[in-house]
Amino acid sequence: MVFPLDSLQDYQLIFKPEHEMLRKSIREFLEREVAPHALEFDDKDEVPRDVLRKLGEQGLWGIGIDESLGGQGGDTISAVILMEELSRVAPPLAVIRGTNDLFAIPLLLFGSDELKRRYIPPIARGGEAFGAHAMTEPCCGSDVAGIQTKAVKKGDKWVINGRKIFISNADIADYIMVFARTSEPQPNRRWFGITAFIVEKGTPGLKIGAKFEKRGLRGSHAMEVILDDVEVPDENRVGEVGMGFIIAMETYDRTRVGGVAAQALGMAQAAFEKAFQYSLQRTAFGQYLASFEAIQFSLAEMMAELMTARYLVYLAAYLADQGREEFKYVASLAKFYATETAERIISRAIDIHGGVGVIHETGIERFLRDVKITEIYEGANNIQRLVAFRQLIRTLMKKGVVSQDVARAIT
Ligand SMILES: Cc1cc2nc3c(=O)[nH]c(=O)nc-3n(C[C@H](O)[C@H](O)[C@H](O)COP(=O)(O)OP(=O)(O)OC[C@H]3O[C@@H](n4cnc5c(N)ncnc54)[C@H](O)[C@@H]3O)c2cc1C
Repeated sequence: MVFPLDSLQDYQLIFKPEHEMLRKSIREFLEREVAPHALEFDDKDEVPRDVLRKLGEQGLWGIGIDESLGGQGGDTISAVILMEELSRVAPPLAVIRGTNDLFAIPLLLFGSDELKRRYIPPIARGGEAFGAHAMTEPCCGSDVAGIQTKAVKKGDKWVINGRKIFISNADIADYIMVFARTSEPQPNRRWFGITAFIVEKGTPGLKIGAKFEKRGLRGSHAMEVILDDVEVPDENRVGEVGMGFIIAMETYDRTRVGGVAAQALGMAQAAFEKAFQYSLQRTAFGQYLASFEAIQFSLAEMMAELMTARYLVYLAAYLADQGREEFKYVASLAKFYATETAERIISRAIDIHGGVGVIHETGIERFLRDVKITEIYEGANNIQRLVAFRQLIRTLMKKGVVSQDVARAIT
């Protein structure tokens, strides 16, 4: 064993030529069509529909979704490439893609074929529809099992009541994956009793409330969602009654690689490139900044951190594509490591720019505001540390490296 993985080969990462072709084509498209307007998204807290439509025409919303459901196909690595590139240029676009995933992945993993056929193609086909994911409530973010929104069965329908907060892009979403309690928590199975439902825009009683005025990831909106006697047919239930917690956790295992960790990586990449370029142009004391040892040290350390984060993020994606159980804890490692590393890299990139680093038009300070959110949402980083460790123990238990008694006591 090359602890915690089994062998040296488990640390390998294999990219196909198609991956690099995909990366190049996305980069060229975004540089040409989106980069010139990206700061406006931040200024106006709005991404024009036209931009979303163009991304759709390029087939970007369908990457990672099977062709039989209207997508472009592609593995987890392809999804990471997309997220990294979107985030490098315009982080709110990555959030919009991320919330589509947060809607689609639970459906793809646990939904009926009929639901998949109804709701996935319009999302995958090019932005005909958008998805959102409503879990968080005023009482509970990290503590998913504590949610209080209730769904009560009446005949072949469910009636949902509750209030969700911070729901990304609920204002543009056509479909929302809503999690609600369908039975009271049991003393030693607190997680049990949550169920997932698809609620369509325009359903009576569904109200998209206030927009939270935030300073990062502007252009993607964090919304309040109110459910007031919202009736949903039982056929819109995703997965089994009471199993919503598991559905959510299986979803977050995947979205934290293809989503948040890759988002942070893209931001760090952008900041590093900007700092490197600036150090070759700006002079002080009659010398290029890059000729000062202190700046060289800083850039070298940023490079090491960026490359390490990239390795961890893509390793998690590669393990996921290989169907390896280990991807779950590597994904959590990647999420907290990449997001915190990105914050450090962006902060140093601002330092290297001196005063212009905090000027909005330079286009770096926004990354610092953006990256902070990646440390919080989809499982705050403390929670990622817990998940990574506990998931490692579970994986080692399955391999017989840790006994069941010890594993149960720890997790
Ligand atoms: C911009 C934005 C967009 C979002 N989009 C969505 C969305 O689309 N859908 C959705 O459902 N939610 C969304 N969220 C909510 C997000 O997932 C939560 O904010 C996040 O899970 C943290 O929950 P919380 O804010 O309630 O913090 P809390 O759970 O109150 O945690 C506060 C702090 O305590 C720490 N903490 C909590 N429990 C523990 C513990 N057991 N051990 C150690 N430390 C702990 C946390 O790490 C954190 O640092 C979004 C949030 C933001 C800011």
